[in-house]
Amino acid sequence: TSATGLTTFNPRWIRVNTLKTTMEGSLSSLTFSEFQEVGGMSDMFFFDVVRKYYYQKAKLLSNILAIHPSHDITSSELYKSGKIVLQSASSCLPAIMLDPPKGSTVVDGCAAPGNKTTHLAALIGDGGRIFAVERDKRRADILEKMVTKAGAEKIVTILKATDFTTITDGHPAWQAGYLLLDPSCSGSGILQRIDWDISKLNLPSSDATSGQPSRSSRKRKRDEAPQKVFASTSEELDGQQVSEETKDENTSKERLQSLSDFQVAIILHAFSFPNAMRVTYSTCSIHAEENEHVVARVLNSEIAKERGWGVQSREDNPLSTWHRRGLVKELSSLNVGSEEQQRVAEGCVRVNRTDSLGGGFFVVCFIRQIDNEGRLG
Ligand code: SAM
Repeated sequence: TSATGLTTFNPRWIRVNTLKTTMEGSLSSLTFSEFQEVGGMSDMFFFDVVRKYYYQKAKLLSNILAIHPSHDITSSELYKSGKIVLQSASSCLPAIMLDPPKGSTVVDGCAAPGNKTTHLAALIGDGGRIFAVERDKRRADILEKMVTKAGAEKIVTILKATDFTTITDGHPAWQAGYLLLDPSCSGSGILQRIDWDISKLNLPSSDATSGQPSRSSRKRKRDEAPQKVFASTSEELDGQQVSEETKDENTSKERLQSLSDFQVAIILHAFSFPNAMRVTYSTCSIHAEENEHVVARVLNSEIAKERGWGVQSREDNPLSTWHRRGLVKELSSLNVGSEEQQRVAEGCVRVNRTDSLGGGFFVVCFIRQIDNEGRLG
């Protein structure tokens, strides 16, 4: 099949919650009893779960898998018991990028509803500690429920109705070494839920060899219950590449400016934590104003220079093999030479809405190259 269908198909992504189960435990459960794995893919994110009873593990991303979006996974025991979390692959990238060591202290500065908090908890395990900060009281209640459902209560301390920028000297969270920042953004990378017309995809002519339901039986099922898929536009279903740069989601310049001012303030506050050595910044936005421009602004700041904050090089970050990196042309305001601009761009990870990871996304990891004693990190 041409890439026509595959480039535009968006599976449902699942994160296995390793605080409660394992990948093997999930796959051997009743929920997955009819499924079989698609293997042999070379790219870490490439998937082929167009067929309904296939699943695929994300290569190089531990404990993350993709299934066909028409499955009602929310009614499964696995989901209800918190053993799996419905989280897009793109939303799993920040915790992987932050890569906090087991047992470390982490701050999730903008935490609700808690997808990334609970992912972090699974990564650092029982000996670690996470302060999950959420300014909005109602959203903090949802965060609390998610943390409990994930079995992460012992690891996570929720700071309800707390503004991240008010955490300063004297607060136990102030000593954290690792911070994950996923602040409010325009959400321009988020995919809309729409009806999916299966006839627009280049499906294989028969599923007979795989032992899966035939196309006609699949069609009958479809007629009974229309399938849904996450996709952003009808152009994507038709397989046309959507230009991420020209697609403006009517976010006004003023709105983007005020969002990016807020995002910069959040990062600069994180840079002032005395023991912080790594900070990730992420958005589900495709706008450079909230992504590369924010990176340039914080790197140009006095505090970044004083405290030795820079961007982790591509070769050092756990997502080095992902092909889509930051846009160097959007880093022209960064006060460094073109080679360093290129290095910074390569350090950033971008996901387009057409990449099938569950939405457009941006993530970067800042590292502190000089510690409190002036030693190189
Ligand atoms: N990281 C979350 C997840 O993966 O489930 C999603 C975070 S959402 C994009 C941003 C959150 O940050 C919102 O819940 C918002 O209320 C919260 N927020 C915004 N400004 C904040 C601040 N100054 N301090 C703490 N939380 C803040």
